[in-house]
Amino acid sequence: MDNLPDDQPSSQADQKPCRSCGKPIDPSDPCYPFCSDRCRLVDLGAWFNESYRVSRPLDEVDELD
Ligand SMILES: [Zn+2]
Repeated sequence: MDNLPDDQPSSQADQKPCRSCGKPIDPSDPCYPFCSDRCRLVDLGAWFNESYRVSRPLDEVDELD
């Protein structure tokens, strides 16, 4: 199957997936490793959520007895 579309540049091999949405992005992009500022904020927000969840006290565990 050699019917690759012409809009697939050979340089795509140099692209990396956006860390937030997985969309291919050129490492030379100012937003790298994200495809946009929005994805960067989404990833940052997810990181804060994860950090907040881990640092929460597990008070509910005492109720399981
Ligand atoms: Zn993205």
